[in-house]
Amino acid sequence: MKIARVRTHLLEHRLEVPFESASMRFDRRQHLLVEIECDDGTTGWGECLGPARPNAAVVAAYAGWLVGQNPLETEKLWATLYNALRDQGQRGLTITALSGIDVALWDIKGKHFGVPVSTLLGGRWRESVRAYATGSFKRDGVDRVEDNAAEMAGHHAAGFHAGKIKIGFGVEEDLRVIRAVREAIGPDMRLMIDANHGYNLSEALSLGHRAAEYGIDWFEEPVIPEALSSYRAVRAGQPIPVASGETWQGRWAMKEPLETRCIDIVQPDLCGTGGFTEMKRIMDMAVLSGVRLVPHVWGTAVQIAASLQFMAAQIPDPVRVNPVAPILEFDRTHNPFRQAIVTRPIEHENGVVSIPDGPGLGIEIDRAALAEFAPRD
Ligand SMILES: [Mg+2]
Repeated sequence: MKIARVRTHLLEHRLEVPFESASMRFDRRQHLLVEIECDDGTTGWGECLGPARPNAAVVAAYAGWLVGQNPLETEKLWATLYNALRDQGQRGLTITALSGIDVALWDIKGKHFGVPVSTLLGGRWRESVRAYATGSFKRDGVDRVEDNAAEMAGHHAAGFHAGKIKIGFGVEEDLRVIRAVREAIGPDMRLMIDANHGYNLSEALSLGHRAAEYGIDWFEEPVIPEALSSYRAVRAGQPIPVASGETWQGRWAMKEPLETRCIDIVQPDLCGTGGFTEMKRIMDMAVLSGVRLVPHVWGTAVQIAASLQFMAAQIPDPVRVNPVAPILEFDRTHNPFRQAIVTRPIEHENGVVSIPDGPGLGIEIDRAALAEFAPRD
C-alpha cells in the first residue's frame, strides 16, 4: 500500500453572533481537514488545529514527501516530515500541519488492520468518557455576566459534571462572571477558568487569589505560553492548580514546562502537538513529571473522534482500583459543521460520550457536508 494523494478540506461558517476569547475574536468558524488516499482506495482523515488556510499551505508542502510512501510507517514518516522543515519549523504551523497528517495516517493504519486506533495504541481502558462543557465566551450584544451564568446553568441541566468558562477580560469583570456562574450551577458542578493568556503576571496572581473561594479545578493559560517563568510564579503564588499546553507543539516544546513543573495539568492538543505519534511520547513525559494530562480539543468530529481514541488508550496514572479517568473537552459554542461532517454525530448523553469502536478513528465522513461548508470566497 502506498500513499497516492494528500488533500485538504477547508470548512467555514460565518457566525451571526460573533464571540471572543481574551486573545481572539471569532466572526466565523473555520477548520481544516486532511484526507490521505492510498493506491488501494483506503482513505484516512485528520484535522489541524489553528488557522485553516496557513495549515493547508504547510500540508501541501509536506505532500511531496508523502506520496509514494508506505502509510503504515508512521514513526518514519513523522521523523521525515519533521526533519524536512525542522530548520524553519520546530513549533507552530509545521507541527500543527504534521499533526493532521499523522492523525490521517493512523486512521489508515486502523482501517488497514481492521481495529480502532485505540487498539493500535495499546488497548482500550474505557468505552466512554465524561465530557466537560467548554463555553461561556464573550458574545456580542449581551450582558456577559448573565449570559455566561445562563449558559453554564444549561450545561449543568444537560448533565455535564464540569464546565469551563472564558476569562481574561479584566479581573473585576471576570470575578463577577465567576461568582454568577458558581451561583447558577450550584456547589457540586466542577468549574474551570481559561484566560487564553489574556493576563499579565500580576493580574493572574490577583485573579487566582480572589477566584479560589469559588471552587475552581484549574486556571488555564493565565499568561502567555512563552513565559515559563511567569507560569512558575503563578503556580507558586496563588492556590488554583495551573493548566496549559494547547500551544506547546511537540515534545521539545513540552520538555521544559513538564520538567520544571510550570503546570499541574498539561493540555496537549492531538491535532496540534504532533498527532498520535507525538502524543504517546508526551503522555510518557507527563507521567514522568507527575503532571496530569487532559487533552485540549477544539475542532470537528474528526478531532473529537481522534481525541476519544487517544483517551480510550490513556493509561491510568496510577493504575488502581478506582483510577482517575480522563475527561473530554466538549466545545459547546455554535458550529453547524462540527458534527454534520460525519454520518453518525458524536454527541453526549447526560454529559457522557461513547468512544467509537470501528476501525481507525471509528467515523465516516459525509462528503456532501464537506461541500456544503466549503468557503464561498
Ligand atoms: Mg484553552
